[in-house]
Amino acid sequence: MDNCIFCKIISGEIPSSKVYEDDKVLAFLDISQATKGHTLVIPKEHVRNILEMSAETAETVFSRVPKIARAVQKATGAIGMNILNNNEEVAGQTVFHAHIHLVPRYGADDGIHMGFDEHEPDFAALANLADSIAKEVTE
Ligand code: 5GP
Ligand code: ZN
Repeated sequence: MDNCIFCKIISGEIPSSKVYEDDKVLAFLDISQATKGHTLVIPKEHVRNILEMSAETAETVFSRVPKIARAVQKATGAIGMNILNNNEEVAGQTVFHAHIHLVPRYGADDGIHMGFDEHEPDFAALANLADSIAKEVTE
């Protein structure tokens, strides 16, 4: 897609440090290296994010994630890994070509701070919400 930085990386118009490539998927080092080995896995098909992704493309991309993640772990010596994805600006998406972040973890002081606010569970509300979501599940 014109003006998509990751499509330009796929075509070679913009250079990248590639770690894996096949006919449908590319993985390369994130330029910002949140931790050493921070890698992005992307479909070669231009799709905005997971909210717009077909099951087929998801299968293609996610099926490659474990082997790429293991390679990153072996090469870096990481002791764990966060695998993350941001969808839309409110969630932190800045590049609008779907990508999965592999963020190797090295210890509590490796610079990554993640957490969620916890709320007291309201089980009736949870049951209602689960029902309303379940009704919306389609292909
Ligand atoms: P997002 O915030 O959309 O989840 O992640 C986009 C990621 O793409 C960021 O972590 C950013 O560092 C990375 N990025 C942006 N432009 C480039 C680029 O030209 N090359 C590479 N390798 N990574 C990029
Ligand atoms: Zn693109």
